[in-house]
Amino acid sequence: METQTEHFECAVIGGGLAGLCLAVQLASRGVSVVVFEKNKYPSHKVCGEYISMESWPFLEGLGVPLARLNLPEIHHLGVSSERGFMLEHPLEMGGFGISRYSLDNCLFEIASRMGVRVMQECRVTDVQGNPSVGFEIRTSLGNIRAKTVCGSYGKYAPQFIHLDDSNALKADSQNYIGVKYHIKTNFPSNRIELHNFSDGYCGISKVDGEWHCLCYLTTAQNLLANGKDVKRMEETVLYQNPFLKNHFSNAEFVNAQPLIISNVQFNKRQTDAGGIFLLGDAAGSITPLCGNGMSMGMRASKLLAEQLLLFFDQKQSHEEALKNYHRAWNAAFGTRIRAGYHLQKLFGKSRTTDFALKLLHRTPWLTSQLISLTHGTTF
Ligand SMILES: Cc1cc2nc3c(=O)[nH]c(=O)nc-3n(C[C@H](O)[C@H](O)[C@H](O)COP(=O)(O)OP(=O)(O)OC[C@H]3O[C@@H](n4cnc5c(N)ncnc54)[C@H](O)[C@@H]3O)c2cc1C
Repeated sequence: METQTEHFECAVIGGGLAGLCLAVQLASRGVSVVVFEKNKYPSHKVCGEYISMESWPFLEGLGVPLARLNLPEIHHLGVSSERGFMLEHPLEMGGFGISRYSLDNCLFEIASRMGVRVMQECRVTDVQGNPSVGFEIRTSLGNIRAKTVCGSYGKYAPQFIHLDDSNALKADSQNYIGVKYHIKTNFPSNRIELHNFSDGYCGISKVDGEWHCLCYLTTAQNLLANGKDVKRMEETVLYQNPFLKNHFSNAEFVNAQPLIISNVQFNKRQTDAGGIFLLGDAAGSITPLCGNGMSMGMRASKLLAEQLLLFFDQKQSHEEALKNYHRAWNAAFGTRIRAGYHLQKLFGKSRTTDFALKLLHRTPWLTSQLISLTHGTTF
């Protein structure tokens, strides 16, 4: 294979939301950026596809024409227990629905137009070097050199990234699986529902076009107990929640087979490793119950772009950029990740969840407070 010797100021490993948003911001300020993405655009991803409104101005600022896309705006939350109780609550800030298929592809097109070199179907296999001599990024399509490297590879750290385990906020050692369908159904476009079932919960809300997203998270153990048969698990476990049974029974499924991911864990990780800046899920993931992993990834890209631009303008060293990004990241997300981690414990358990939802029903101020802990302000 021919070795490429191209040199960029910034290399981004992973072209999901966080990586593409970072690339667009840097490119708009004249930084040369390469993004490596192991898949091809457009493609579907396991995600609930509800984005908190806090990200609306940011995405519009990057050039995503949200206002023209006629997207569903979501301002009401319903949370049900397996026992059939539904908590109703307005969402003060609210959110909007857009499929990852549409959003990631739109950001990819914007990045390409801005001169970002996006290498699709290109897996990064190793990174060598350090900030003082620069980095060599080894990929399935050849090697490239870069002055800085950012890891936005999502929830699965590649082998060449060495994370310090003592940094992690110890989550339960559970492995989760995520399952997603696009469906056509009669469900209000201004509403999101979260339905609890034994060891999991399932969200439903409208996205762009004619589709709704139906996405759930449960333990790998739950699937194993049902002979690794998703359909059987849905019918024996998820259908115990009467609302879910109704949604599953009355929807038209766009594809018979869902998208599934496994080995999902939620914890706070770290903002750099071996001189590589980390962002998005790579730096820490939040339970989807809190619904805001995408906004966190996008916000992190903004915090990191600010620090990198100071570095490229020679206003701070690489070491200072790492430290300042770490500080900014913790200030923005520390509380949010902890809140998500503790909230997760209240859900997916028949009696506890029913009790918690009834309590929250009687104390709407507390419900508002909990919801606001998991959201940020616009940026
Ligand atoms: C079940 C579930 C439901 C969720 N629902 C919501 C929701 O409703 N709202 C919300 O805001 N968040 C939700 N989230 C969280 C959200 O999906 C993530 O926080 C978000 O996708 C993180 O974006 P990212 O850019 O960090 O990672 P990703 O979007 O995962 O992107 C990482 C990219 O890196 C690429 N990659 C990985 N390794 C390599 C490599 N070695 N070389 C090249 N490319 C590589 C991958 O192909 C991928 O495209 C949910 C998560 C789960 C599991």
